[in-house]
Amino acid sequence: MSAPVVTDLHGFRLERLRPLPVLGGSLGEYRHASGARLLHVAAPDESSTLSVSFRTPPVSDAGHPHVLEHLVLMGSRRFPARDAFQAWQRWQLLDYLNASTTRDWTAFTASGTVPGDLLGTLEFLLDAAFHPLLEDAAFRQEAWRALPDGSLGGVILNEMRGALAHPARRLREATGAALFPDSAYAWASGGTPQALPDLGVQDVRDYHARYYVPANLTVFAYGSLPLPEITRRVASALRDLPTGEAAPAPRPVTGGLPELTVTHPRSAQTLLAWALPAGLSPLEVQGLNVLGLALLGHPDAPLHRVARSLGGALADGSGLHADTAQPVLAAGVAADVNAGALLGALLETLSVPLGEAEVRSALGRYTLSALDTQHHGFPYGVGLSFDVLGAAHHGHDPLPHTLSGTVQALHDLPDLPGFLADLARRCVTGNPHRSVIRLRVAPDLEARRAPAGAAPAEDRTPVPAGPAPVRAALRDRVSLPPTPALHVGEVLGVPAYSARVPGALTQFSLTRDLPTPGARLDWLPAYLHLLPRSPLGQALTREVQALGATWSVNADTTHDPLDPARVTLSVTLNVRGLSARMPGVTAALGRAWMSLDPVPPGAAALLRERAACLRTLLPSQAAPLGMLRAARAVNPGFAVRDACDGTTSFDLLDAAAAHPALQETLRALHAALWGRADLRAVVVADAPAGTLGGALRPLLSGLPLTASGTLPALNAPASCPDLPGAAALAWPTVPFTHPDAAAVTVLGRALQDALHGPVRAQGGAYAVTVRALPEAGVLLAVSARDPQPERTLDVFRAAARHLPDLDGDTLEAARLGAARQALPLRSHAMQARQAALDAHFGFSPHRAAFLRALLSVTADDVTRAAALLTPPSPPAPVPAATLGVS
Ligand SMILES: [Zn+2]
Repeated sequence: MSAPVVTDLHGFRLERLRPLPVLGGSLGEYRHASGARLLHVAAPDESSTLSVSFRTPPVSDAGHPHVLEHLVLMGSRRFPARDAFQAWQRWQLLDYLNASTTRDWTAFTASGTVPGDLLGTLEFLLDAAFHPLLEDAAFRQEAWRALPDGSLGGVILNEMRGALAHPARRLREATGAALFPDSAYAWASGGTPQALPDLGVQDVRDYHARYYVPANLTVFAYGSLPLPEITRRVASALRDLPTGEAAPAPRPVTGGLPELTVTHPRSAQTLLAWALPAGLSPLEVQGLNVLGLALLGHPDAPLHRVARSLGGALADGSGLHADTAQPVLAAGVAADVNAGALLGALLETLSVPLGEAEVRSALGRYTLSALDTQHHGFPYGVGLSFDVLGAAHHGHDPLPHTLSGTVQALHDLPDLPGFLADLARRCVTGNPHRSVIRLRVAPDLEARRAPAGAAPAEDRTPVPAGPAPVRAALRDRVSLPPTPALHVGEVLGVPAYSARVPGALTQFSLTRDLPTPGARLDWLPAYLHLLPRSPLGQALTREVQALGATWSVNADTTHDPLDPARVTLSVTLNVRGLSARMPGVTAALGRAWMSLDPVPPGAAALLRERAACLRTLLPSQAAPLGMLRAARAVNPGFAVRDACDGTTSFDLLDAAAAHPALQETLRALHAALWGRADLRAVVVADAPAGTLGGALRPLLSGLPLTASGTLPALNAPASCPDLPGAAALAWPTVPFTHPDAAAVTVLGRALQDALHGPVRAQGGAYAVTVRALPEAGVLLAVSARDPQPERTLDVFRAAARHLPDLDGDTLEAARLGAARQALPLRSHAMQARQAALDAHFGFSPHRAAFLRALLSVTADDVTRAAALLTPPSPPAPVPAATLGVS
């Protein structure tokens, strides 16, 4: 971040700039002459996030903010189609696009790695927010309408009926009403089925005119998009708009209702909630988070025990909540109990100081989660947007305290248990701002009928399909993420790849590649299940967690890029934790790994239990298990995956449980797996790559150099259980390096769209997935919750015939889907690990060629690939393996 700081960008003046060392970036706060705010978190992350948000306090239970949130995405000045949102989403390469109505603000948020798509989406969202059509027909479709029988329908009406069927949601709304009467928090921002029909389209238009104004706008940006590209678009959207007024921040509330009772048809619960005082310091807020984890974070935590002692589980809504301007701490019991008894039990428990070990363990877990800036299947910037925007809309400092050093200040406190005890006294036990919220069992009020005079408004206006937006060619929008520079070194004889990535975490993996098939593969499912439950596993979990780290051991398979039937099985120890404390973690691992027992007492019973449990889960897992079985039938390499994750693993668990030498064999396997001579390592952290391998030394020096000996074979007859309600078919395709591998991947996406209709028409499966796995050289089709698997299989067998003509838009949509699949959301650490894997298994030189081919696949290429799906003329055997059991 050495670029000069620009203090005025298109009318956005910089008001404050603060570093965020954990991200290797900064938070800049900008203000526009209209009053609009821009909160910019600069960070070296290609996955960027943009959010357009407004403060939207509800004014009743009629759901103004929620209905408006739906309607603004249903057509605007520049994008007038009623399905504008879906049409827009279909053509963008984004990892996230969604709208959310919180208790008192509304956000429209997008995240992705393609700058043009994200900036275009910002323009789309700004036009939607400031120039929505807010049509009467859209209102009737979304909010509520009279049905011919006099009842009421509507998307949001049904959505809220569903939401409020959950006891947790009723308790949440009631908690706001009890603790913060006469404020916006007393109303349900989503609307209630009883009050929604009081809303009219003009009310929504008035609400829009009042709150969706420049002065009430806060834009959030995270990542590496150029800031002037953002400010230029926002400033241009604000030009010529009346500025309006910002909705005032929530006023502090000092007292609530002593008790509030609401009803639910089936659930009785009793909850005690405290509104925490306004104006807590960052250190106090972080301390409360740790306190919450220590009190509630695991099934044996003190407040869980209180609930059990009162005769129930912990009530819904128990925990620390930050969705109101003053955070709320709540705890209770899922039963109708005497409020005085609950209060007495809670006060007594809260007045007992927590032990040092409990507090350190909670602080370790909290610190790891607070400083974890990776994407875990969900863009990090989206989660951050909720923290930053929540603080901003509540009138607090938007600086994310977790990233600015406050957590470290907790670690440095001389007496953390004493600090938390004092906090509990000031904020909870001695805090009179509390309410009892009761959920009593009683039938719901009768659903409202259409108001007299409301003509049945069956909406017959056809929904105009939005045209595909003007867009650049896919090949100009997509590129491979930059590969992190890998350093190749060696620690105690173990080859180690390392890469420098920003952040406060160190992640490393130690991997052992195993020959397959073989006895080691057969014993692996038992080993992997028992290790975390063993004395070794349990000691590590305790020690490593208190140091702010996690560990796991997993098995993976990798296909050969030139021959997908050749598979390598790898067993990997994965560790991630706070860099500052990593020496302690690796020392603990090195001490324990070979000295503690990797097999728990009662191992055989645990394995039998596991196998039985997996068999009872079969019906819900039929689709993925069937996919594996079908893949195995056309590519023998999948036998390895099936032994680890498929139905074969059930048989192996049973056979291991019955083996007379179970314990000794697993100990021998443990020793054989972790001999230093056969390991390889990957380390990523924010330090010069050449120095990173050293972090592994304390662990590696605790491992033996080699281990010898053979394992007994495991005789596990295949039970091949039925897989009900799923049909799966696999076709062998081409190796990853083949020129047609990209066309096969696009074919998979095209078939995914094309087969849905015919499968539905045949039997009505709940879901159909078609996917090419280019690295594994197969194309798979699978159905789930399928009442007619045999009929679905007929459709799959004839898949090539269902392939539509791939003209312009259809082909583009398939290529877009294939590009999304080839470029999953990955953090820098994950990219570095992928690069190390690619280098090890020989994929590196082929990734770029594959992506280039993907972006230029033609209709002819796809047709040629589809020929792979056609069985050769009889009597040659059909290459496709089938599976279908109802
Ligand atoms: Zn909704």
